[in-house]
Amino acid sequence: MFRINDNYLKLQGSYLFSRVGEKVRAYSEAHPDREIIRLGIGDVTLPLAAPVISALHGAVDEMACRDTFRGYAPDRGYEFLRSAIRKHDFLARGAEICIDEIFVSDGAKSDSGNIGDIFSEQNRIAVCDPVYPVYLDTNVMAGRTGVYDPSTGRYGGVVYLPCTEENGFVPQFPEEEPDIIYLCFPNNPTGMTIPKSELQKWVDYALRIGAVIIYDAAYEAYIREDGIARTIYECDGAERCAIELRSFSKNAGFTGTRLGYTVIPKRLKCGGVSLNALWARRQGTKFNGAPYIVQRAGEAVYSEQGRAKTAEQVEYYMQNARMIREGLKDAGYTVYGGVNAPYLWWKTPDSMTSWEFFDHLLEKANVVGTPGSGFGPCGEHFLRLTAFGSHENTRKALERIKAL
Ligand SMILES: *Cc1c(COP(=O)(O)O)cnc(C)c1O
Repeated sequence: MFRINDNYLKLQGSYLFSRVGEKVRAYSEAHPDREIIRLGIGDVTLPLAAPVISALHGAVDEMACRDTFRGYAPDRGYEFLRSAIRKHDFLARGAEICIDEIFVSDGAKSDSGNIGDIFSEQNRIAVCDPVYPVYLDTNVMAGRTGVYDPSTGRYGGVVYLPCTEENGFVPQFPEEEPDIIYLCFPNNPTGMTIPKSELQKWVDYALRIGAVIIYDAAYEAYIREDGIARTIYECDGAERCAIELRSFSKNAGFTGTRLGYTVIPKRLKCGGVSLNALWARRQGTKFNGAPYIVQRAGEAVYSEQGRAKTAEQVEYYMQNARMIREGLKDAGYTVYGGVNAPYLWWKTPDSMTSWEFFDHLLEKANVVGTPGSGFGPCGEHFLRLTAFGSHENTRKALERIKAL
């Protein structure tokens, strides 16, 4: 008789976005004349850049020709893409990463889940609170979190790293030592970063206690200030304790096209076993790479024109981020993030809960945010806004908010 993986029954899951969706639907059905502006979505809206589109067309034509047709892609991805990644994302930042350490994939979300396959279920994980839900959910499914306690909003077996206004959203070392530490900077949902010197302390800590860091750098392209690491491998010793997840979703608009990569340095070992070798095996048996066509599109992101055009798109979103940040501050609100990230972490006024403030904004301004409490207990009394809308909608939403 078969059995299900009953870890799935511990998932809290889709509650946040489904409840947001239900509330917005109910409101617009009751008020069909109102125009609702969504500033809650975590998805890009600008179309793919012209150099990316022409690379896609070119690669499609190659697939139509016997001489240039391609079948299965190499396990770690095509060399043309991995060498462009190595040059622009690592060597240019002073990080010595070789192409055998880069594994091309269909995105950071699946890698952040699948990476757990190479780790024992005995490992204790540490996540920030608030957190991008994928890290937690995939560990719940793998049986690494223990049981959810609705009274605390936390899983019993997880080490939480609170990121709060008090600590400037910089996670502090926990009392209990974790084995696997998830870090994401610039952060989703808070939009905050930590200085390179703070990240170095986490690398030193991981090396000292023998932990591995899974570092999500999906928003690297949004960094505007100096003193922030673009990749964790800018930190000394990170090649011995860190895996980095990267994505083409937010810097180049590939959320629907799907492309990302994971870096596992060869020097990252556990009792003499190289994690790079383990991940290579996994790729052979459960290949989740990206199609040739998409890898050519990814290569085009690194061309001179591709870099210029995608940087313009990121800048477009950052203009929204600055507009929201300044607008909310002018209106007397407290807001974090939005300087090196497309996310803003808006403190609710008058001690309203995240959901009370969500309802208030929806009803009074017809603006939709994402309740911070959905990302963890420390997200309570915050609302996440995103900068992925159009300038017009962002401006209009701010006018309505200022009129509240
Ligand atoms: C959007 C996002 C990603 C990107 O995931 P893809 O699967 O590559 O689209 C990764 N990490 C975080 C924190 C994100 O918000």
